[in-house]
Amino acid sequence: MDLSQPVEKLGVTYRMHAKKLHKLNIHTIYDLLFYIPSRYDDFSQVTPIKDLEEEQTVSIQATLIKITNQYTRKRGFTIQTARIEDEEGNQADCVWFNQPYITKYLKEGSKISISGKVDSITTRPKISVRDYEVVTDQNKKTVHTARLVPIYPTTRGLSIKWLRNRMSEVLKKHAEDIEDHLPEKLKQKHNLPDLSNAVKTIHFPKTLDEAENAKHRLAFDELFFIQLASLQRKSAWDQKTSTQKLSTKNHEDQIQQFYESLPFTLTGAQNRAIQEILQDINSQKPMNRLLQGDVGAGKTVVAAIALYTAFLNGTQSALMAPTEILANQHYKTLKTLLEPLGAKVALFTSSKKTKQETFDIAVGTHALLNKKLKFDNLSFIVIDEQQRFGVEQRAILREKGKSPHVLTMTATPIPRTVFLTIYQELDLSVLDEMPKGRQKVKTWVVPQEKREAAYDWIKKKVEEGRRYQSPNQAFIICPFIEESENAATVKAAKSEYETLKKSHFSQQKVGLLHGKLKAKEKDQILKDFKEHSYDILIATPVVEVGIDIPDATIMLIEAAERFGLAQLHQLRGRVGRGSKESFCLIFSEEPSHTTLKRLKSLETTHSGAELAEIDLKLRGPGEMYGSKQHGTSNLKIASIADRALVSKTQKEAKEYFDKVENYPLLHNRLKSTIIHKISPD
Ligand code: ADP
Ligand code: MG
Repeated sequence: MDLSQPVEKLGVTYRMHAKKLHKLNIHTIYDLLFYIPSRYDDFSQVTPIKDLEEEQTVSIQATLIKITNQYTRKRGFTIQTARIEDEEGNQADCVWFNQPYITKYLKEGSKISISGKVDSITTRPKISVRDYEVVTDQNKKTVHTARLVPIYPTTRGLSIKWLRNRMSEVLKKHAEDIEDHLPEKLKQKHNLPDLSNAVKTIHFPKTLDEAENAKHRLAFDELFFIQLASLQRKSAWDQKTSTQKLSTKNHEDQIQQFYESLPFTLTGAQNRAIQEILQDINSQKPMNRLLQGDVGAGKTVVAAIALYTAFLNGTQSALMAPTEILANQHYKTLKTLLEPLGAKVALFTSSKKTKQETFDIAVGTHALLNKKLKFDNLSFIVIDEQQRFGVEQRAILREKGKSPHVLTMTATPIPRTVFLTIYQELDLSVLDEMPKGRQKVKTWVVPQEKREAAYDWIKKKVEEGRRYQSPNQAFIICPFIEESENAATVKAAKSEYETLKKSHFSQQKVGLLHGKLKAKEKDQILKDFKEHSYDILIATPVVEVGIDIPDATIMLIEAAERFGLAQLHQLRGRVGRGSKESFCLIFSEEPSHTTLKRLKSLETTHSGAELAEIDLKLRGPGEMYGSKQHGTSNLKIASIADRALVSKTQKEAKEYFDKVENYPLLHNRLKSTIIHKISPD
């Protein structure tokens, strides 16, 4: 069977549950087969009733004698009890709560397999049931009990038992249809099991060792293909030519004038990045470079000099930013810097459309992608906060020129290993040095009992600022908009807003900003905040993007354990953008020692790159950026922190890339690999 067919093809029950499967990102049969368990419940200990001990987690295989349903005094609360007897004639009672339907489902006299915990063993052992299933003579193999039982992440309305049953079914029918795309030689060399066996085993292993071995095979594949794909993008990029060569030669005076017009001297890191960029664009081969630097490191001015160089060469360039407020900010900066030098800067956003007038540098939001906006001679593009744009959007902008040079910029630190593994097609410039005089944001992890004091302190700071006409504004960041079920304790922005504006901050002007607002509304609120219509802004992490609010000096972050350190660092970068002393207060809902220790690294470490490395070690790459910001979070099985596996697969990827066409299965699999979120290609 063709495993790339929709999962609905498998039968009625799949069609009925299709929406929920899609929610789990399961669309094809292949997706289902590769939906990997997150862990296993160990129910492998099958024990005769006479040997049961209290507190044990066990499995028992026995015959059902009778099953009853009892109402309790508490309304709506029922208990189901099944008396079972094993082959040796010993009996036990199995107990469920509030599952009356099982008294109909489990028939007296049938053979059942039960896993659960032994509550007591007084007269008759009593087991509180975790899972159960009927065993027939034809089908003695258990799926939910008496073995290592796979636990899958699931979604509302899709029971794990249903999923497990389907998995067992599909594996039986279709596991053999999984073609192994790895060359035989490669498997032998690294002692990798066959792919279809690995898939079968990862779902229903006999031992944890066996599971580990299967996982190793799948992890190998994952990293191997990511690196092949990355090499492929590199080779595609390397084949592009015919770009404009942008040179500073014959323009030394103007460049000098630009430097002299700056109200500050550039940092060493900025100078280095500028040299790297100028060298790249002085070539027919299009540049593909990522400029990474913490918030406030001064990426804009680095981009500006390259934009200016494009102008000096008689060509057009563009800078795209993810939000209107950011585009406005860039527009103002570039206008101030470059218009005195003769370059015409135009702004394109959805609310302000410049007519198709003449311009040298176009600054804007995705409004730049509009079909009607045409460039005469686009030689260079800059994409700010690149992770906010999709691959297609970046491609559309590029196609407005003839393979223009591309500079992408991000404040998200990317550990070197991740970079070298996944983004081989990109060259990297790092601003690892902050402009002089920049103050570190004083950071404290605050215990819950000091919450009141923290609010009082914020209030005092805001009032003080007002009195001395040197305003202090505060951000309060909450992770979710609504209280969500599985995070009931997490302070939700909305309810936090309602509470705080009536209690602690009844004398202050409090605003609310969250991701469900329209882009325009968001921009407006940020603008109002910047103009002091609010003292305190309660927000979800939408404020992550690089807005400049010089008087924001205080940031309070709730439930910080839910964020990666790099992300927290980026959030904290929203304050301390002016010259004033700034503060970050961090609260955690989970006071475990490891969590606190992790968060406390923010008190002492002020480099995004270092924090990202710490997170990579402690939590792995999937967690590092919160959600799906980076290609790395596509990793389901492997860890990029596994340096041995990374370097092993990297070597093999290099080896096989050149001859991939000799291996049709490998080649096909590579064609369907899509992991390149960061690359503009
Ligand atoms: P980011 O890297 O976050 O995009 P920006 O480019 O917005 O940072 O720069 C932040 C602020 O620092 C701006 O006000 C900018 O003018 C200023 N700045 C940039 N480079 C320097 C420098 N070398 N010395 C002092 N201030 C600088
Ligand atoms: Mg910026």
